[in-house]
Amino acid sequence: MTAHFDTVALIGLGLIGSSLGRVIKRDGLANAVVGNARSQATMDTALKLGFVDRVHADPLDAVRDADLVILCSPLGTYAALAERMAPGLKPGAILTDVGSTKSSVFAAIAPYLPAGVHLIPGHPVAGTENSGPEAGFPELFAGRYCILTPPAGADSAAVSALRRFWEACGSTVETMDAHHHDRVLAITSHLPHLIAYTIVGTASDLEGQLKREAAGSEELVQTREVIKFSAGGFRDFTRIAGSDPVMWRDVFLNNKEAVLEMLGRFSEDLVALQRAIRWADGDALEDWFTRTREIRRGVVEMHQAGNFSPLEPNGTTPEP
Ligand code: NAP
Repeated sequence: MTAHFDTVALIGLGLIGSSLGRVIKRDGLANAVVGNARSQATMDTALKLGFVDRVHADPLDAVRDADLVILCSPLGTYAALAERMAPGLKPGAILTDVGSTKSSVFAAIAPYLPAGVHLIPGHPVAGTENSGPEAGFPELFAGRYCILTPPAGADSAAVSALRRFWEACGSTVETMDAHHHDRVLAITSHLPHLIAYTIVGTASDLEGQLKREAAGSEELVQTREVIKFSAGGFRDFTRIAGSDPVMWRDVFLNNKEAVLEMLGRFSEDLVALQRAIRWADGDALEDWFTRTREIRRGVVEMHQAGNFSPLEPNGTTPEP
């Protein structure tokens, strides 16, 4: 493939940054990839794994020659990074990001944006629960959506160049308004994570309480029941609840309004289901579950279901 950019700077070299570095290097999407991360250990690993050509401890130095700068760090780091990088950004360069919320990106970066630099926020709707430079893989974006949220008046040539770059990474690109993105993602991604974090925490509290109650009694209580019987549905929540705490803290801090709106809707529906159970309204429950099964079918038909294997990561079947 031909290079889309001469030099790409990746600020943050974890799951997303390292996956980008890998696909750029594998497919020759840039002539050079420059990296920056918070720690020297991550930058050393990135060099060793070979998905960057060079690293700089200061983000200012990392962006100096870059035609495309991609922020791949937690959302809470953006404002300070933008302030630090700004004097090094080349006129005509594209500054983008991969953050999971979008309205906040413009607010954090715009005050520091030099004239002639094109800010086009983006969000690859792709990921796993793993973090760090070793967690990435070049196929992460293949067959997944990438949403660009160019601000009003954005340079159309810059938007097209960024679109072609993400398409070369294997993604299907859509553009939308940042506010709309944040409402859609609040229900499809942010709320599911909040629910997973809640249920796993609640189960852990309950287990602790059961253990305390059993202490001193004759009753034999099997410890670690939550983990032992997790295949009953709980394990899918534990996968999501294993996601990076800092990244997700920043998502909720940066998409507060939309998440609170979706949480309100969700709470109303949860109460309706609670009432259906209390009143033994089987028809209401069955109707609801039939409707949600259709949604799952739609996800599978659009090839967005991902792989779910009952096998353990090492290929063994779990103990019964
Ligand atoms: P990650 O694996 O935890 O990696 C984060 C990277 O950011 C690390 O390399 C870290 O450096 C670096 N970093 C932290 N603070 C920094 C700073 N002040 N300056 C420079 N680098 C800094 O996280 P990730 O999963 O790749 O997520 C990164 C971004 O992608 C987030 O904004 C998230 O919203 C977005 N995103 C994530 C997913 C997902 O599923 N994970 C999906 C879509 C979008 P050290 O290693 O040295 O600490």
